Amino acid sequence: MNPSTRELSLTHSKEWFERAQAVLPGGVSSPVRAFAAVGGVPPVIEEAEGAYTTDVDGNRYLDFVGSWGPLILGHANPEVLRRTHAALARGSTFGAPSPLEIELAERIVSAVGVIEKLRFVSSGTEATMSAIRLARGFTGRDLVLKFAGCYHGHADHLLVDAGSGLVTFGTPSSAGVPEAFSSQTLVLDLDDEAALDELFAARGNEIAAVIVEPIPANNGLLVQRPEWHRHLRELTAKHGTLLIFDEVISGFRVARGGAAELLCITPDLVTYGKVIGGGLPVGAFGGSARIMDLLAPLGAVYQAGTLSGNPVAMAAGLASLHCLENTNSSGQNGWQQLEDLGAYLESRLAPIFARATTPLSLVRLGSIFWLSLQAGPAPRRADGIEAAGSERYGKIFHGLMQRGISLAPSAYEVGFLSLAHDRSHVDQLAQALTLILD
Ligand SMILES: *Cc1c(COP(=O)(O)O)cnc(C)c1O
Repeated sequence: MNPSTRELSLTHSKEWFERAQAVLPGGVSSPVRAFAAVGGVPPVIEEAEGAYTTDVDGNRYLDFVGSWGPLILGHANPEVLRRTHAALARGSTFGAPSPLEIELAERIVSAVGVIEKLRFVSSGTEATMSAIRLARGFTGRDLVLKFAGCYHGHADHLLVDAGSGLVTFGTPSSAGVPEAFSSQTLVLDLDDEAALDELFAARGNEIAAVIVEPIPANNGLLVQRPEWHRHLRELTAKHGTLLIFDEVISGFRVARGGAAELLCITPDLVTYGKVIGGGLPVGAFGGSARIMDLLAPLGAVYQAGTLSGNPVAMAAGLASLHCLENTNSSGQNGWQQLEDLGAYLESRLAPIFARATTPLSLVRLGSIFWLSLQAGPAPRRADGIEAAGSERYGKIFHGLMQRGISLAPSAYEVGFLSLAHDRSHVDQLAQALTLILD
């Protein structure tokens, strides 16, 4: 099939999506899936395998969304299937300690230096929410600092945007969040040591925790300077404030030890989700035993979950870590292979973007990539992203979709490479982009 002339029929997707809108708000179970930012009907996906998804009309898409981050092995990985099927056949949940959760916990503890103990939950949101409660319980303080453009799930006190001014108390970014909650969250811009200094000089001793995506990847890909990270670590340590690395995206994606390993920074608590669940609902948070042992039943901070540590989900997580640690014929583990493929992606797209008439550049870290639709150096903070780029993204997005390639339906979302992708998939993306941008 000539990729430039493919006509996409979404007849059945349209029918399904109409049914969806009658019973699910916006037709979806999570808002960004509705395509509000790019327009059009979202393909209703029926099945997926490896690097490809297939919709209800039988259209196949080369997928760079990867279910928004979890699928580092690609779709329906055989090892994940084998282990989850085996676990499921032995019972889907016990409401009791079980070997698989202990094994996955041991794997994570041995992989990540800072973590001595962890607790499993069922989503990234639960992980960050619980980590913050724990930090508050540990420090006896209420205030939390986050950064504009970092996403930490949808818990009340984290659905907060920057107000105006240098050091701001958060304003709710959703209806239904009481000011009384958002007022406990401070918001600063990324990439600004002076603002951090000013805030910590004034209120450092009241701040329980700073939560940050060490590799901010929910509002573009806002890679931070190493000095900024070091400064944040030093300031928080000095003021007895816990540093929480929200590694829900970066954990087990950018390296075995996540961003903490890559950046050589030791946070106090780390949150996980996405990759550690291998495509099933899993989250976790962990840190030193000194902090973690404050959780119930040992300590005074309550936290619980009916399906936490679910054996089927644990099996998927174990299968994922197992495959990532396996080496290929050149002796490379999964993360090294993904770095190689990421470098290849960069080498293929950079010249195409340099030639394009519209400003466009690729920002990449390991297997995470983002199309930055503006001139100049890659932005490092949320307000450095030009809104005009977002309008141009729709054309690229739909052009790719017509050619059977799916990127995230928003200019602010990143793309993901998986071990199911190879160079020919990257070539396909490059070829399609050449046609669209010319
Ligand atoms: C996705 C994400 C979350 C929320 O995880 P859910 O599983 O969607 O609740 C939290 N933090 C970061 C950095 C994320 O990318």
